[in-house]
Amino acid sequence: MPDFVIPPPPVVALPVAGGGSFPVRRVFCIGRNYAAHAVEMGGDPNRESPFFFQKNPNNLDPSGEFPYPPHSSDVHHEVELAVALKSGGVNITVGRALDHVWGYAPSLDMTRRDLQNEAKKLGRPWEISKAFERSGPIGLLQAAAQVGHLDRGRIELKVNGEVRQAGDINQMIWKVPEMIAYLSEYFELAPGDIILSGTPSGVGPVSRGDRMEVSIEGLQGFAVKVV
Ligand code: MN
Repeated sequence: MPDFVIPPPPVVALPVAGGGSFPVRRVFCIGRNYAAHAVEMGGDPNRESPFFFQKNPNNLDPSGEFPYPPHSSDVHHEVELAVALKSGGVNITVGRALDHVWGYAPSLDMTRRDLQNEAKKLGRPWEISKAFERSGPIGLLQAAAQVGHLDRGRIELKVNGEVRQAGDINQMIWKVPEMIAYLSEYFELAPGDIILSGTPSGVGPVSRGDRMEVSIEGLQGFAVKVV
């Protein structure tokens, strides 16, 4: 054991359906990966190169509560399919990419939209709008060995019982194997890495007291209370 001079931080461990935990290494998130959402954010829905940003492993939060963060008055929901890797490497081919996937989870990429818009305007990085504490509510991880690989199926977010976001996984501009292949050209992917695969249109603000319900066809959904 190394002689740590302060206690080492705990490994971020996400609960798995049927028992066990998934240890998180890094969290990559893709921007504008559904055409209708690219348009609503003022972007080009065509297949321009994908772009990624990161959240921190400990931003992922399976607690079912999302504390409204400080310094924003426009916090948005983005419902996303999370992809969890069991192995990695560099220059992974599209054809072999799914071999590296352990499983999937429904998740949210919560965003301080006002701060993100300001950052975009000023050409600044996005962390303050994306990588804040508990900004990634997430449901149970579910093994691909049990649920299969998800390349189609409804993805939906309800707020207080009303559908706010709806789409289909098959509307992703960059599919899961393509995202893995692309990332592996720029990063050495590794077990524990998680990819949030983008959100369909209909993003919008939440308020304290709201109840968000995330569902993705083929996966067990989850609910989050904004507190
Ligand atoms: Mn997102």
